Amino acid sequence: MKIHEYQAKDLFSSYDIPVKNYVLCHEAGEAGKAYDQLAMEYVVVKAQVLIGGRGKAGGVKLARSREEALHHADNILKLTIKDYPVTKIIVTEAVDIKSEYYMSFIIDRNTKSVVLMMCTEGGVDIEEVAAKSPEKIHKFSIDPLVGLPDYLARKFAFVMFNDISQVNQMTVILQKLYKLFIDKDASLAEINPLVLTDQGNLVAVDAKMTFDDNALYRQPDVLNLFEPTEDEKVEAAAKEKGFSFVHLDGEIGCMVNGAGLAMATMDMIKLYGGTPANFLDIGGSSNPNKVIDAMTLLLKDPKVKVVLINIFGGITRCDDVASGLLTAFEQLKTDIPVIVRLTGTNEKEGRKMLQGTRFNVAETMGEATLMAVEASK
Ligand code: GDP
Ligand code: MN
Repeated sequence: MKIHEYQAKDLFSSYDIPVKNYVLCHEAGEAGKAYDQLAMEYVVVKAQVLIGGRGKAGGVKLARSREEALHHADNILKLTIKDYPVTKIIVTEAVDIKSEYYMSFIIDRNTKSVVLMMCTEGGVDIEEVAAKSPEKIHKFSIDPLVGLPDYLARKFAFVMFNDISQVNQMTVILQKLYKLFIDKDASLAEINPLVLTDQGNLVAVDAKMTFDDNALYRQPDVLNLFEPTEDEKVEAAAKEKGFSFVHLDGEIGCMVNGAGLAMATMDMIKLYGGTPANFLDIGGSSNPNKVIDAMTLLLKDPKVKVVLINIFGGITRCDDVASGLLTAFEQLKTDIPVIVRLTGTNEKEGRKMLQGTRFNVAETMGEATLMAVEASK
């Protein structure tokens, strides 16, 4: 689970990790009041979206006056950054940057431990540094039984800084961030950039945290911060109906019984040159209501041009499925082509019932997929 920068900064504050004051705004007009409230000459207006690289996308702007803050707020709230529409911003105290550093704690599967990563070249994409000059990134795996006692934290702080005041500040930040990471079952805690100001202070100018979904049951405070994306809302609603559903980018809506068959269907669509719009496992049973719910879900996606229903009748009988489909489509109002592949118990009876109806019936998976791919083109 991801959280916004401002939410991560609240957590940082509660652990005494230095961050600048900010005011959260949902409308451009609020930025003026925020500017007054901060009572600083320079502020930074920042998009709050659950994706990195906001700076490069024009989502982070320095403002030198109230008017400029309003102007940037207005522009940033109109942005969509990598498919994420900006619906809120923060106006935050600007800092005078002397230099930018990178630091993070991350779960590392290879060493089966938390790894501390630090780099004296912060602010830029760490992936870029990692690709071009990996030797610049310092990595230390942390023994969970030892943690980060003073001696270790100081040792790591000296890797980044020479000045004793900065080493002292870094030691504290390392220990507090590690404690936050462990306390909250995080999978990532990243500060990029960690800034050394002209005044010689270290401040977290950006803050990024993600959490282990499997631990959320014991982290109610973290779960409270959850803001689902539009896709996640749809997926959660599908889950409540007993489906497992993942939205994808393609044009062929898939309705399949069984997760394995659903995966195979998606592979087959790709193989025949089409693109699946989703993964959807509707499970067993031939209940027409289930089909209606599933179709409603698929048809919400405007990109869906055709629906491929791929059913293997094991315990569920194909004639039951066919009658379920016929009942369901009496209620569904859609002209979209629907291709049905029925195989298994009572398949002949099932296919016969659908012959001459609005459905395009196929016997094999290859045949059905080909029909769906052609219909999508
Ligand atoms: P990201 O692009 O999504 O990672 O957003 P960041 O919060 O990291 O901001 C991007 C860049 O904007 C930083 O690396 C800084 O160089 C710059 N920036 C952000 N806040 C300030 C600030 O208060 N003062 C100055 N001078 N630059 C800032
Ligand atoms: Mn950043």
